[in-house]
Amino acid sequence: MLLRTLGITGSGPGPDSPASTYLVQVGPEEIRAAKAAGTVPESVEERQWNLVLDLGNGGFAAIQRHINPFDIDAVALTHLHQDHCADLSGLYVYLKYHPERGSAATGTTVQLPVYGPTAVSERVEEMCGISDGASLGSVYQFWPTRNSTPFNVNLGPIHIQPFHMNHTVETFGLRITAPSALRPGEIATLAYSGDTDYCHGAVNLARDADVFLCEAAFVEGRDDGMTGVHLTGKRAGRVAAEAQAKSLLLTHIPVWNDPAVTLAEASETYTGPTALAVPDGEYQI
Ligand SMILES: [Zn+2]
Ligand SMILES: [Zn+2]
Repeated sequence: MLLRTLGITGSGPGPDSPASTYLVQVGPEEIRAAKAAGTVPESVEERQWNLVLDLGNGGFAAIQRHINPFDIDAVALTHLHQDHCADLSGLYVYLKYHPERGSAATGTTVQLPVYGPTAVSERVEEMCGISDGASLGSVYQFWPTRNSTPFNVNLGPIHIQPFHMNHTVETFGLRITAPSALRPGEIATLAYSGDTDYCHGAVNLARDADVFLCEAAFVEGRDDGMTGVHLTGKRAGRVAAEAQAKSLLLTHIPVWNDPAVTLAEASETYTGPTALAVPDGEYQI
């Protein structure tokens, strides 16, 4: 699997990056190797699969540099803060009103799966300024959490497992398992925190992950009074260490932070390979 860190700025877009937006891609060669090893079922289509993890402000622009928006297989949202879902409104307009392929022109529904928290469809209706749910239904097929049982999904060669996080609204960290790009035939793990403070859910999410993509929006000494909102670099490192994650990729750094401070904090608590995610970064996992 390939992780593209399209938007890595926290709490809103920055001058050099959209807000939280990630693209996970799995290609036909990885799928063939996994089928040969018996780690992916024979029934999975051998093609490129594209999963969007969160779609924050500006993220839809970045997606278009890499794939045709009609080739997105699903969008999975950690939570419904604007810096993680705002661009579902722009994507809706594109998929509905594209003059050749849009659902309005073809008369065929697109029904792109959108996995997310309980109120995902209401939130997107609100952002799109739509009160008629049928209109959104021509583009999106919502899979919300029901009775606090979160979505748990097989998308072709990709499995998505959500974990409850510790944030100000209902939030799920997403554990993504898919054929490895580095170890043909094997399954690799990407754990993405969404937004969270320290919690056992975050440790379970990141357990033994090849890459732990973890937010670190707060700074030690500055944000100490606020609990249940965000991690600091130090606390992100603590989660990575307790989970025995194999590497840590720090993200969701707001524009007012010094990323070097975040990186230094994480190195106090986690000794494995650690880096700051970069806009449009590519990570083979
Ligand atoms: Zn956020
Ligand atoms: Zn948030």
